Amino acid sequence: MRLSKNCYKKCRICESQNYFLFDFKNLYFPGKEIQRWNNIYCKTCGSVSHFVTDDHSISYENGSYRDRNIKNIKVDNQLLKVLPPLDPWSIQSYKRWINIYSNLKKYTDAFNASTYLDHLDYGGYNGFLSHALEQLVQIKSTVADLDKRGLLIASSLGYKTINLSYDNLPKDKKYDLITLIHVLEHIEEPKKILLDLKKCLKKNGILYIEVPNLFGSPMLGDVHLSSFTLDALKNNLLNLDFQIIKSGYSHSDKGNFDFGIHYISDTENVYIICIKNDKLIKLEFETAKTKLYKDKGELIRKLNYEYSRISIKSISKMHLKKILLHLYYFSIFFFPALMDFMFSRFFNGTFSYLLFKPLKSLKEKFFLLKK
Ligand SMILES: [Zn+2]
Repeated sequence: MRLSKNCYKKCRICESQNYFLFDFKNLYFPGKEIQRWNNIYCKTCGSVSHFVTDDHSISYENGSYRDRNIKNIKVDNQLLKVLPPLDPWSIQSYKRWINIYSNLKKYTDAFNASTYLDHLDYGGYNGFLSHALEQLVQIKSTVADLDKRGLLIASSLGYKTINLSYDNLPKDKKYDLITLIHVLEHIEEPKKILLDLKKCLKKNGILYIEVPNLFGSPMLGDVHLSSFTLDALKNNLLNLDFQIIKSGYSHSDKGNFDFGIHYISDTENVYIICIKNDKLIKLEFETAKTKLYKDKGELIRKLNYEYSRISIKSISKMHLKKILLHLYYFSIFFFPALMDFMFSRFFNGTFSYLLFKPLKSLKEKFFLLKK
């Protein structure tokens, strides 16, 4: 996918021309560098569109989008072709699926249907979301993606696949549930995709969308072309005549911190469950109460406020916990072992055992008393 150069004439999603350009730099929540990106904030819907200024291309088709995470590992190019697809998202995704399932289960009756649900996972890569949902609900999934290696796995798991590099969504097929998980922010024309997906939804069909939150995760990297706040996404879905059943914040599993994913806050992502508008059904629908930013000064202040709050409240706290935990294990392994080493080397005895034996018996007595 080659991106169009310098085409910042309108908001990617609502297509409004009422916007301002801004540049954001921050040490701990870096933005997209001004040398390569034009960022525009849409004063109509409140979303941010990122436009690249150089010859930048992303390849989702040949898997290099996912392989970019292993660039530091030395693997022979020939080997890379035959290695199984790298799925760096699997642990992260697992908790994501549980969260998605819980949200859908709680707020829609889609999963209580007595017949099989027709499900489309748009940008579903390897079909693991479908595989997870299938264990819990009666579902028939189709996985649509650009990545042929992912689709090969989805196909081997027994799902219908649509290779979006060659094929469009079928015109004659409608779905009860469409999931769009961390996909919308990668798309050059998100409005077009939302309208296409709307056509594929059955009457009262459910659309589940999850994207990174502009105020909860950094505007990082080469691959995200839009950034949304919860209200910005709500506004756009309401404008496209979707009705919102439920929306909120979600985040990656905090265990991912150990895999170098530091930007985990309670508001890392936003999700929206919406229904194809049907005036006949009466539900309590949400409306957007948008706070729009007038100029770049106001927006940058807000970004700095949210990012610094997250860095203090979540990220630094997690690092501090890790430091203390490592110090605890360091002292347990190092000091008694050092004593033992010295005593066994020079005095032919074990010191730490003698030292900790009284403590051990005290602990046993304590537990006996408790029983
Ligand atoms: Zn807009």
